[in-house]
Amino acid sequence: MNHEYDAVIVGAGGAGLYAALEASKKANTAVLSKLYPVRSHTGAAQGGISAALGNVEEDKPEWHAFDTIKGGDYLVDQKAAMTLAEEAVQAVYDLENRGLPFSRTEEGLIDQRRFGGHTRNFGEGPVRRACYAADRTGHMILQTLYQQCIKNEVAFFDEFQVLDVLVEGNRCAGLVAAELATGEIHVFRAKAVLFATGGFGRMYKITSNAYANTGDGPALAARRGIPLEDMEFFQFHPTGIKGMGILISEAVRGEGGILRNRDGERFMERYAPTLLDLAPRDMISRAILTEIRDGKGIRGDRKIDDYVHLDATGLGKVVLESKLPDISGFVRTYLGIDPTVEPIPVLPTAHYAMGGIPTDIQGRVIVDDKGTVCEGLYAAGECACVSVHGANRLGTNSLLDLVVFGRRAGVHICEFVDGVELPAIDKSAADSARGWIARLLEGKEGPHGGQIREEMQTIMMADVGIYRNAEGIERAVSRLRELRERYASVRVQDTGRSFNTDLLEIIELGNLLDLSLITAESALARRESRGAHSREDFPERDDENWLKHTLAYLEKDRVRIGSKPVDTSLWEPKPRVY
Ligand SMILES: Cc1cc2nc3c(=O)[nH]c(=O)nc-3n(C[C@H](O)[C@H](O)[C@H](O)COP(=O)(O)OP(=O)(O)OC[C@H]3O[C@@H](n4cnc5c(N)ncnc54)[C@H](O)[C@@H]3O)c2cc1C
Repeated sequence: MNHEYDAVIVGAGGAGLYAALEASKKANTAVLSKLYPVRSHTGAAQGGISAALGNVEEDKPEWHAFDTIKGGDYLVDQKAAMTLAEEAVQAVYDLENRGLPFSRTEEGLIDQRRFGGHTRNFGEGPVRRACYAADRTGHMILQTLYQQCIKNEVAFFDEFQVLDVLVEGNRCAGLVAAELATGEIHVFRAKAVLFATGGFGRMYKITSNAYANTGDGPALAARRGIPLEDMEFFQFHPTGIKGMGILISEAVRGEGGILRNRDGERFMERYAPTLLDLAPRDMISRAILTEIRDGKGIRGDRKIDDYVHLDATGLGKVVLESKLPDISGFVRTYLGIDPTVEPIPVLPTAHYAMGGIPTDIQGRVIVDDKGTVCEGLYAAGECACVSVHGANRLGTNSLLDLVVFGRRAGVHICEFVDGVELPAIDKSAADSARGWIARLLEGKEGPHGGQIREEMQTIMMADVGIYRNAEGIERAVSRLRELRERYASVRVQDTGRSFNTDLLEIIELGNLLDLSLITAESALARRESRGAHSREDFPERDDENWLKHTLAYLEKDRVRIGSKPVDTSLWEPKPRVY
């Protein structure tokens, strides 16, 4: 079936819905989502969204921008970060006006709490900058935006999985998608396409990310010749539930929770004397691993799975129940622990992709190191790299990124579609996607996808995780190449048309394999340590040679590495001390 729209948005998380809300003011807009919209991962976000409202103590957008840049280990494009921080204030009030039920201060203002790396006066101490709705902030954002989109009569294609993006000669003309319920292939012809497909934590074995976070947007873009930016920077959140990866929000530490080693010591005092447990995530994740390597971890049952404690017992029942009700519930359900009396066993968990599809601050996709725009193609949210998070994102800055840059992309789409005709697409537009599916369904013998996925996740966890070195990454690259070869003859067991989740998962696995390879090759190329990228063989940050963004081009089975400069026009890069 064929469709025509001014704008087609892929993804119904915070970024996609905000873009749709803006675009639909003038453009005939459709949203495609492989999930029912409110199941998007944005709904799992717990802790908060940052904005220098100054409701609880003095704060300024300038301080917020500086923290974001320093937190990102100076790989952040500084004017983009300033835009993020300045527009944050209005963005949060817009959400409030649209009906988001924020938690309140006693005077009735939006309440704010502490989060990692957010400071007053350029690093003097922690500041209360995170606005929140208990520990269901993302859930509330998603519900608020979805109901507004329904009100604006945005057309929703729920449970449609995008398989291909039609890009020719730097012009995007539309998309190809499969309807999950019927297996039918649909072609969407559009003046503008926006990817807001979220993250890809499923590359890793232990992750906080939902099953659907498979990086479809970046993988499809990469196959169409668009480079991916800064893919070596993948954030591990310090506090996942040990062994499961389920996230225990940084808000627990924002409210006063403390990390302790086997001696009960507050070890962050040795790593970040000023910010302690509220240092940026990359530093805390490394500190936890260092404690464990030094024999200061708490012994797990099998003597190999050491961990540390997140001690929230000092917060008291009232704070835990009123400000962190979901987290308290998770701990009770998954661990059988009452967080008011017992500490929580935690380990770092793969959490957030700093890298992604390169864009400018209007959300337009940039295809090279010269700033060339792919006309009609946009990206926003976690799948995009604008780049405001640099080498390490600060907590609460992602939800903010979604609304600020989702909105900006939507505004630009309105202007753009006004002045252009629907691009032509030829009859063969869906051939490549159809051919691929036919091949997958015909294969009678061949490896099982589940096994390939398991191996990929184990390799990424072991060799492209928190600490990396050339030997490990080279091993990962060659094993990922092998897995990609095996994947070429992978077998689909279910050959039905309706809700063929077996087939769709295999397609997602192909996306994850491509992104894993790109991540590993980008990590191998960067011979320094910066933010979340810690090379044991190159432990220092090296601004002279590496203060630049990586651009990785997928060319069949090889990855070509290029670069582009970082905007450092506001603050000079300095060593990071917290
Ligand atoms: C457990 C958890 C807690 C978090 N807490 C916070 C927090 O407190 N504060 C904060 O700032 N950040 C937080 N984050 C990070 C933040 O939530 C995410 O980065 C953000 O929500 C991503 O939003 P998004 O709109 O880019 O994508 P998502 O919300 O992930 O949505 C992706 C959308 O794309 C669609 N999609 C994907 N592929 C396809 C395809 N092929 N075809 C069609 N549709 C497709 C999906 O259906 C979905 O609708 C948290 C993340 C996690 C995992």
